[in-house]
Amino acid sequence: MPADPTVAIVLRVIDFSESSCVVTLFTRDFGKLTGLAKGGRRPKGPFESALDLLSVVRLMVIRKSADTLDLLTEAKLERRFRAASRDLSRLYAGYYVAELLIDLAHDHDPHPELFDAALAALRKLDDSASVPTTLLRFELAALRILGHQPSLDLCASCGEEVPELPRVPFGLISGGVLCARCREGKRSVISLSHQARSTLAREFEDAATTEEIDRNVRGELRGLLNQYLSHLIGHRPKMHAFFGMLMSG
Ligand SMILES: [Zn+2]
Repeated sequence: MPADPTVAIVLRVIDFSESSCVVTLFTRDFGKLTGLAKGGRRPKGPFESALDLLSVVRLMVIRKSADTLDLLTEAKLERRFRAASRDLSRLYAGYYVAELLIDLAHDHDPHPELFDAALAALRKLDDSASVPTTLLRFELAALRILGHQPSLDLCASCGEEVPELPRVPFGLISGGVLCARCREGKRSVISLSHQARSTLAREFEDAATTEEIDRNVRGELRGLLNQYLSHLIGHRPKMHAFFGMLMSG
């Protein structure tokens, strides 16, 4: 079987033997995949120490059928995630991007737009962009691209328009705002302010926006996303434990 080229972000590296490792990557062309890199732990050879966490690599991969590890045959480093060496909060934010891709994306399900969003987020973290805003925008991009964008105008349960009120109920299980009737008896419902609701709608409408997000609104959206993502993934993301530190900036 021939090897296919792609570009990828390294999400996880597990030592497999003295010289080999098993690597999970998010590739631009083939989505998330996990492959065996024979000789991946040697400084010389086809991988040249390229397989570091959050590195961007040019990769050659032989894709196998389901339930078998793919085979990585070569990787060349494009760019290393450098934030690690100067700022712990940026390093943890990078880990969180990797964790979200591992937990939210499915294997062999390509989403080039999500790859580009992840790459852009890592670049911003590597630079001096705001950590909380960069993460928030990446999370919203991931939700939108993977089909989990919450309903913000229409009731997520019955489809009727939900009027603009100072606060509306947001159903974590239904995946969006709820009308008064549907809210009755529902569990896992939180209250969403009008300001946060309209900021969310604006962010989803214009993914390229660079407009500032009000600090209070950002805090409210942080709380909403923590719960919504935990619900979607089925557990609280590990890196949420460090959010106090990540979100202070
Ligand atoms: Zn309803």
